[in-house]
Amino acid sequence: MAELQKLPLYITFATQLKKIPEEEEMKVMKFGGTSVGKPERMNEIARLITKDEESKIVVLSALSGTTNSLSEISNSLSKGDRVSAKQRIDALELHYQNFIIQLVKSEEAYNKAKSIIAEHFEFLNIILKISYSEALNKDILAQGELLSTKLFSVFLNEKNIPHTWLPALDFMTIDSSGEPQVGSIKVKLSQILQRHKGSTIFLTQGYICRNSKGEVDNLKRGGSDYTASLIAGAISASVCEIWTDIDGMHNNDPRMVKKTKPISRLSFDEAAELAYFGAKILHPASIWPAQYFNFPVRLLNTMQPEAPGTLIMSEAGSVGVKAVAAKDFITAIKIKSSRMLLAYGFLRKVFEVFEKYQTAIDMVTTSEVAVSLTIDNDAYLSEIIKELEPFGSVEVDSDQTIVSIVGNQITQTKDVLAKVFTNLSGIPVRMVSYGGSQHNISILISREHKEKTLQLLNKGLFGM
Ligand code: ADP
Ligand code: ASP
Ligand code: MG
Repeated sequence: MAELQKLPLYITFATQLKKIPEEEEMKVMKFGGTSVGKPERMNEIARLITKDEESKIVVLSALSGTTNSLSEISNSLSKGDRVSAKQRIDALELHYQNFIIQLVKSEEAYNKAKSIIAEHFEFLNIILKISYSEALNKDILAQGELLSTKLFSVFLNEKNIPHTWLPALDFMTIDSSGEPQVGSIKVKLSQILQRHKGSTIFLTQGYICRNSKGEVDNLKRGGSDYTASLIAGAISASVCEIWTDIDGMHNNDPRMVKKTKPISRLSFDEAAELAYFGAKILHPASIWPAQYFNFPVRLLNTMQPEAPGTLIMSEAGSVGVKAVAAKDFITAIKIKSSRMLLAYGFLRKVFEVFEKYQTAIDMVTTSEVAVSLTIDNDAYLSEIIKELEPFGSVEVDSDQTIVSIVGNQITQTKDVLAKVFTNLSGIPVRMVSYGGSQHNISILISREHKEKTLQLLNKGLFGM
C-alpha cells in the first residue's frame, strides 16, 4: 500500500506540532461533485452546514462534470486544437450561466455570481492564446473548485448565512515528491483560523494546492476527499464527514453490481484497502491522515441525510469479509530467470528497478524460476522493461484488474478462500495474493472478466 508506507515520513514532523489546548473543536464537512452539481443541492448543503452549532470547515469539489470538462479543454490545448478547446469553454460557461439563474434570487447576488463566472471564463479564454504547459494544465483544472466555492459563497450571503471563504492555495501545499506538507498545512491553517476568530463556518476548495515551486497544483482526481482529511488532521477535527451521492461504502461496486448494501462500520485499515483497491467513493490516500491523527470519518449521503452511512474508525466492529473492490488499468510483469533459483538478492535487484522509476508495486508472487508483479503506473514501463531484461525474459500484460476482497481477519475466517475459488471457477485468475495482510485477498484478472467476477463474488460471499 504505497500511501500507507509513506506514513512514517510524517511522524516526527507532525508529532512536534501538538494540538493547541484552548482550540475549540471543529468538524470538516466535504461535499462532492454531485452534492454541489445542482442549484437545489446547494440549498441542501446550506441546510446541512447550519443544522448544528459546531464550528466547521466546509470543503467543496467542483460541480459534477466540471473537472472532466476542464481536463478535456486542457487536452485539446495540449494537442494545439484551439477550436475544440474554445467550443468546450463556451459550453461550460453556458452551463454555469444557467446554473446561477436557478441558484440565486436577488439581482445583487445574480450580478455577483455573473461577474465570478465572467472572471474565470475570461481566464480560460486568455489561456487559449498561451502555449500549453503542465503548469497551465494545473491552472485550468483548478478553476472548478474556485468557481463552486465562490458561487456557493454568493448563495450563502444571499441567505444571510455568515461564513468565511478560505483560499486553499494559501495553506494546502505539496512537496517536490507531490506529498502534502502536513506540518506546514497545520501551522498555516491555524494562523488563518486565528485571524477569523468569530467565524464558525469556513468554506474552502478541495483538490487544489500549491507545489514546491509555488505553482497551482492538485491532489489528483477525486482529491477533495484527501483535502478534507488533511484539513481534519491539521485542525484535530472531531470528525471528517464525506458527503456524497450514496449512503456510505457499499459491499461491492454499485456501478457494476445491481444488488449492494451499505457497510455500517469499517476500520481504517479496511477503508484504506478498499479506497486503494478501487472503491471510488474515497480517494486512495484519504484514510491515512484519519488513521494517523485518529479522527473518525463518516461517509454520508446528501440525498438521504438521515441514512446512517458508514463510520470509519480504528476498531473494525466485526470480523469477516466486508466488501469487494476492483482497480483497473493494472499492468502485470513477469520476469522469468533460470538463474533466480540460486540467486539470493534477485528480488532486491528487481525491486530496485521499480524504486529507481518511483513506480509502486501492488501485488507480487514468486516461484522458483519466475516473479510476477503488478503496477498501476506505466509511465516508465519501457525504461523498466529495458532494465529488467538482463535478468531474464520479461512478459508484460496490460489492461488487467485487481479484485480485492477486504475485511477484518479474513485470512482466519473460515472458508473465504474456498468460496472465492469455487465461485470463480470459470474465471481465469492470473495471480493471487493471500496472507500479506489480515484485511485483504487480492486476485488479478483480465479486465474483460471484471464485471462477471464482481457479480459472482457478490453471490458467493454475500449471498446477494
Ligand atoms: P463525489 O463526487 O461525491 O466525490 P464520487 O463519484 O467520487 O463522489 O464517489 C461516489 C461514487 O462512488 C458512487 O456514486 C458510486 O458509484 C461509486 N462507488 C464505487 N465503489 C463504491 C462502493 N464500494 N461503495 C459506494 N460507492 C462506490
Ligand atoms: N473535482 C475534482 C475531480 O473531479 C476533485 C474531486 O471531485 O474530488 O477529480
Ligand atoms: Mg470523489
